[in-house]
Amino acid sequence: MENTGKTAIVTGAGRGIGRAIAVSLCREGYNVVIGYAGNDEAAKETVDLCKQQNNEVQVVTVKGDVSEEETATKLVDAALEINGRVDVLVNNAGITKDTLLARMTADDFDRVIDVNLKGAFLLSQKVTKPMMKQRFGRIISISSVVGVHGNAGQVNYSASKAGLIGMTKSIAKELAARNITANAIAPGMIETDMTGVLSDKVKEEINASIPAKRMGTPEDIANAVLFLSDEKSSYITGQIIGVDGGMGM
Ligand code: NAP
Repeated sequence: MENTGKTAIVTGAGRGIGRAIAVSLCREGYNVVIGYAGNDEAAKETVDLCKQQNNEVQVVTVKGDVSEEETATKLVDAALEINGRVDVLVNNAGITKDTLLARMTADDFDRVIDVNLKGAFLLSQKVTKPMMKQRFGRIISISSVVGVHGNAGQVNYSASKAGLIGMTKSIAKELAARNITANAIAPGMIETDMTGVLSDKVKEEINASIPAKRMGTPEDIANAVLFLSDEKSSYITGQIIGVDGGMGM
């Protein structure tokens, strides 16, 4: 695939779902800015995988905490430096700090909201100007099935993911007339480091409860991102797309 001249920013692309999204976008000819928190080795691996898919595109990395405004500025500047455009923003960086409500500290609540929700706010705000100028944009936020349905032990996380849904709908309403769409993807259980901490027994129980009888792969989410990023998806905005093997029904 040739370089399409389009540029995407993917936060949290050093590992897991974000890595699969970055690799897929490169394969389809997008230049990609890879955001990550601190794992240099993993980020380098993502770059190598992107380059293996497509040597025609530019791939750059930006290290930093998405909850800090400085990082958002660096990510957008890195995208604009490639060819003056930001076509796609994927708000994917996310963390968990799970425990029951009675034991959750205010710090753990704040941290999860800061990374998962404020980070997406900062990035979405900063890409708006270039997207309005170029009269095209796709803002895609990775929410979660628990943002819709809630989950015991994840008061902070589910609040952040529900927040992304409200934010997505509001951005969609503000920017629809500018040919900028905002959508969220609500993954179910996906095989990554985040879910790797679960025991085999818990995973088996989860698989049994999913209509598709399996966990999803990062590529399942990347496919939905490619679909929403496409020019052909211009009339889809403010939507929450479940990619969950039927878990959210
Ligand atoms: P993961 O494997 O834990 O990877 C998280 C990525 O986010 C890493 O690249 C990490 O960077 C980056 N990151 C973490 N904190 C950051 C920060 N403060 N600033 C910048 N980057 C940060 O996670 P995942 O499972 O791929 O999840 C990706 C997204 O999907 C998250 O938003 C998650 O909530 C959502 N999701 C996941 C599942 C699931 O089952 N896995 C289900 C629903 C939704 P480093 O590599 O440098 O540490």
